Amino acid sequence: MLELNKAHWPVTVLGPGRRVGLWVQGCSIGCKGCVSRDTWPRDASKGISVAAVVAWCREVSAGALDGVTISGGEPFEQPAALAALLDGLAAWRAEAALDFDVLCYSGYPLKTLERDHALLLRGLDAVIPEPYADRLAEGGLWRGSSNQTLVPLSARGQARYARWIDAPAPATGKAMQVAVDGRRVWMIGIPARGDMARVEALCASRGLALTDVSWR
Ligand code: SF4
Repeated sequence: MLELNKAHWPVTVLGPGRRVGLWVQGCSIGCKGCVSRDTWPRDASKGISVAAVVAWCREVSAGALDGVTISGGEPFEQPAALAALLDGLAAWRAEAALDFDVLCYSGYPLKTLERDHALLLRGLDAVIPEPYADRLAEGGLWRGSSNQTLVPLSARGQARYARWIDAPAPATGKAMQVAVDGRRVWMIGIPARGDMARVEALCASRGLALTDVSWR
């Protein structure tokens, strides 16, 4: 079982192309400035079978995907479920003769992942490791702070991600997607510093109060 906070299709701001986005539940790292505090507590009630997750990915994307982005939460804090998910995605890719890549975010340093999770890294095409650090400069494309690197891990990852390693955030600003689920609004992507406060102020100026926000 994978504890899953949310899933979305298509995601266009966390990796190249049109992607399936999966956000796992649970992160013990606790970065200052994290905008996803709702993903911190582990929550068994959010458990879903990996087979159901992969089936959902197949159904919503209809095979027309460029990649899958796994974020959270901290994916490597559910290593058995992450391994099963990577196996399931790889099996789907092979069976359907697709060529999507799998990108994973982690708040752990790359050296820690290489030491403790070498097998999981082998199932990924690229990883963006390191905790978010709000004392450092903002990060490049798809990244929050400047310590976060983009690391291709496979031949597919090299071919697809090498050109983006040193890419800055777009001159037009960091892109965010918005999805509405009943009374809940999901903001997807890596915001620039101060973006969430600006969104909140803009909403307030129009009489809309945001409650239970995930960034504090
Ligand atoms: S930024 Fe990522 S690693 Fe850091 S606390 Fe938030 S979810 Fe965890």
